[in-house]
Amino acid sequence: MPGLNALPASGSDPVPTDVVIIGAGPVGLFQAFQLGLQEVSCQIVDALPHAGGQCVELYADKPIYDVPGIPVCSGRELAERLLLQLAPFRTPLHLGQQVESLAQLGDGRWRLQTSSGRVFLARAVIIAAGVGAFVPRRLVLDGLSAFEGRQVHYHAVELERLKDQRVVVQGGDEAALETALQLAGSGQCASVTLLHRNSKFKAEPALEQALQQAVAEGKLALRTGQPVGLLQSADGQRLTALELAVDDEHTETLVLDALLPRLGLSPKLGPIADWGLAMERKLLTVDPATLATDLAGVYAVGDICHYPGKRKLLLCGFHEATLAAFAVAARLRPEQRQLLQYTTTSPRLHELLGVAGTSART
Ligand SMILES: Cc1cc2nc3c(=O)[nH]c(=O)nc-3n(C[C@H](O)[C@H](O)[C@H](O)COP(=O)(O)OP(=O)(O)OC[C@H]3O[C@@H](n4cnc5c(N)ncnc54)[C@H](O)[C@@H]3O)c2cc1C
Repeated sequence: MPGLNALPASGSDPVPTDVVIIGAGPVGLFQAFQLGLQEVSCQIVDALPHAGGQCVELYADKPIYDVPGIPVCSGRELAERLLLQLAPFRTPLHLGQQVESLAQLGDGRWRLQTSSGRVFLARAVIIAAGVGAFVPRRLVLDGLSAFEGRQVHYHAVELERLKDQRVVVQGGDEAALETALQLAGSGQCASVTLLHRNSKFKAEPALEQALQQAVAEGKLALRTGQPVGLLQSADGQRLTALELAVDDEHTETLVLDALLPRLGLSPKLGPIADWGLAMERKLLTVDPATLATDLAGVYAVGDICHYPGKRKLLLCGFHEATLAAFAVAARLRPEQRQLLQYTTTSPRLHELLGVAGTSART
């Protein structure tokens, strides 16, 4: 995607910044743009490996018709346009890591730590966490979690680790089919099996066709069944097979070296619920004029926030991000009078956007 300044997943030195935005969904991205116009620096963190939040994760290829001035665009296209708009500010994006803790320091700054160990010291925090961090749905089987990260992989795994292995991909949606096809196409695995509870897939016809072709060419095997148990090596160190219920009476064994469950993603509010912020039905209560929560210096925008009349729509999130940017700038620079500047006419904003000197359109 354009404008992506994605950074490596971990780092040792604390990162000082004006603001940390939690969430790189559409509202978090527009929030960074609005802060840029206010000349407030920020860093964005997201649990997903890509920006765009629900737009990319839940409806990447579906059309949106109610973004002002854009008659129609897909979820992915909207995320791409927001990144492009944000590009002049070169905002660092820290992807694939969840913000796990938030604590106030003696000097008033906020210390945030992510699941990758990165630490931020921020003068203000804006929570744009939507419906929560998207985490992979787990396959619930007794004893399976012991093999997570070794033989059971919920996230993308390097092909090198699956070389010459009997790999089972579990699931029936596009992510499962794409993973299975990618592995089958690589020719690196000893075998690739796609396991699904029935023979109906939830994917575009072209993907299903590619699947059937890979099966016909012997690159991929299909198995139907529901995992009900697992088999381990005698010393308990290795997962060797899944036990599958194939109908009400019969079970079968599926031998494997690696299991890649692709059962979809579910949003989890996670640690945010433990930060002591005022909440109403899992949403953060804010002042609609400033988007401030009850913790001074912590703001919430987009789907995660609540106030009378709140609607979970992109447009409402963009409006909230704009008001929050003004409120944060006023908090960080109380001595400075706030002026309303238009991007159309302000030479200073043109400079910030990197368009100073370009000829005006008539
Ligand atoms: C199917 C569908 C269709 C829709 N169609 C429309 C439409 O046509 N028009 C419209 O206006 N709206 C539509 N919406 C609603 C719109 O998508 C949401 O209002 C919008 O995505 C909210 O944006 P957000 O940035 O607040 O949250 P999100 O898009 O949910 O992004 C939040 C981000 O925060 C991250 N996050 C959460 N917690 C953490 C944490 N602790 N650490 C790090 N990262 C974290 C998540 O991973 C996520 O990427 C639709 C929604 C759905 C599901």
